[in-house]
Amino acid sequence: MADGVTRQTHDDAIARIAEMLGARLVTSAADRAHHGQNETDFPETLPDAVAYPETTEEVSRILAICNAAGCPVTPFGAGSALEGQHLAQAGGISLDLSRMNQVLAVNPEDLNVVIQPGLRRVALNEELRATGLFFPVDPGADASLGGMAATRASGTTAVRYGTMRDNILALEAVMADGTVIRSGSRARKSSTGYDLTHLLIGSEGTLGVITELTLKLQGIPEAVTAATCRFDTVEDAVNCVILTVQSGLPMARIELVDEVMVQGFNLYSDAGLPEKPHLFLEFTGTPASVAEQTALFEEIAGEFSVDGWSSATKTEDRNALWSMRHNAHYACQALAGPGRRIRSTDVCVPISRLAEAVTTAQRLARDGGLTATIVGHVGDGNFHCGVVVDPTDPASVAQVAEFSHTIAHLALDLGGTVSGEHGIGLGKLDLMSREHGPALAYMRSIKAAFDPNGILNPGKLLPPASAKETLS
Ligand SMILES: Cc1cc2nc3c(=O)[nH]c(=O)nc-3n(C[C@H](O)[C@H](O)[C@H](O)COP(=O)(O)OP(=O)(O)OC[C@H]3O[C@@H](n4cnc5c(N)ncnc54)[C@H](O)[C@@H]3O)c2cc1C
Repeated sequence: MADGVTRQTHDDAIARIAEMLGARLVTSAADRAHHGQNETDFPETLPDAVAYPETTEEVSRILAICNAAGCPVTPFGAGSALEGQHLAQAGGISLDLSRMNQVLAVNPEDLNVVIQPGLRRVALNEELRATGLFFPVDPGADASLGGMAATRASGTTAVRYGTMRDNILALEAVMADGTVIRSGSRARKSSTGYDLTHLLIGSEGTLGVITELTLKLQGIPEAVTAATCRFDTVEDAVNCVILTVQSGLPMARIELVDEVMVQGFNLYSDAGLPEKPHLFLEFTGTPASVAEQTALFEEIAGEFSVDGWSSATKTEDRNALWSMRHNAHYACQALAGPGRRIRSTDVCVPISRLAEAVTTAQRLARDGGLTATIVGHVGDGNFHCGVVVDPTDPASVAQVAEFSHTIAHLALDLGGTVSGEHGIGLGKLDLMSREHGPALAYMRSIKAAFDPNGILNPGKLLPPASAKETLS
């Protein structure tokens, strides 16, 4: 909480930013509330003001003012983060990049595009359609590309195209003191010093504000077939995935949904699916290679209890299938009912340990009497339990936190990570020490070097230091 003096310096900083931005510095209750919401069960957290810069120069001046005043700045893309990353935990400015949403250059001959960070994923792909190219990273939510870079997002297509880490060539960022830097280039690779591009990717707005991105593009595949099939048990479905990945079949998407999630789809999307574990699949390539991949997958799945094949080639049918999958969070919410929220776990394990991880999670949820769905980008070993929580009941909140914690420790025991794609934010701070050990102190040194006054998204990603992990 800001004391009287701090409050005054923050207010002075906000007044100076208001002079610069005019009506684009907003302090209305509605706007602050919009930026203080989240899709999970973190309490509403209001910034003191919301700033809407339109240029890198404005971002630079805002940060210089805030740095001098020690006023916190939390970058905001679309506010879809699931670990509370975009919440202005320490007050100050919510820096909303949504007006910096232009495509700056399309370079089809080099298969890349230069964009501003507030551009949304769907809008980018609409702009690119005529070029025959697309940007493949797809977290389902219509997130901003700056937010996706800052959380190192991925999603259903990462099994084929990788995560944001693999799809950014270069960026421009504004540092805490207002200095503008560029990192990377339009070349496909570089061997010149520390890789600041990849340090900023996944830094959750704690090291700098991304103001431009150069993204890799892919050709729109000639043929696409989506398909679903079901299994008697989650274990069979997961073992089918493991064998598929180990066979080297180039899946475009391979997603697990368990029987509880299917109940949610039936409720929310009127899907009419039998309530059994399903795989949602996509095959892409030339028509001949899609036919070959489909046949190979069917052969692998035939070794398990597969049934109920259904496939779709028309764009609208495929879109309906993936839109149902992308709405999984809201389908969980429908299962939960009014007043309840969804806490999403996000562990990722080596593919060989996936069956053990998923079945243990299912058993722990069942034994604890929790309502929990399982969906997973299982080709990457990444899955989410969507656990119903009653935010007004401390016992429910504690039980769900404990469940999440247990799954996270299980993932670490299996050689995995506590977050495959959603990031740390506020929700996983207590797991950073176990996952990173002595490396955490080096992360703190990086934060101190980039942001000595601690103004960038304070309270996120790094837990408070313990005496043990200080660098000698
Ligand atoms: C229904 C649903 C499904 C989802 N599915 C997936 C999924 O499959 N895969 C996945 O990875 N995620 C998923 N997410 C989570 C979310 O969409 C991602 O974390 C996304 O990358 C957040 O982008 P955003 O624009 O909403 O960022 P915000 O939520 O606004 O911000 C996220 C973080 O990025 C920082 N930030 C934002 N813009 C910038 C910038 N320009 N410079 C520096 N820092 C910045 C913020 O300070 C914050 O720390 C899902 C969310 C929902 C609601």
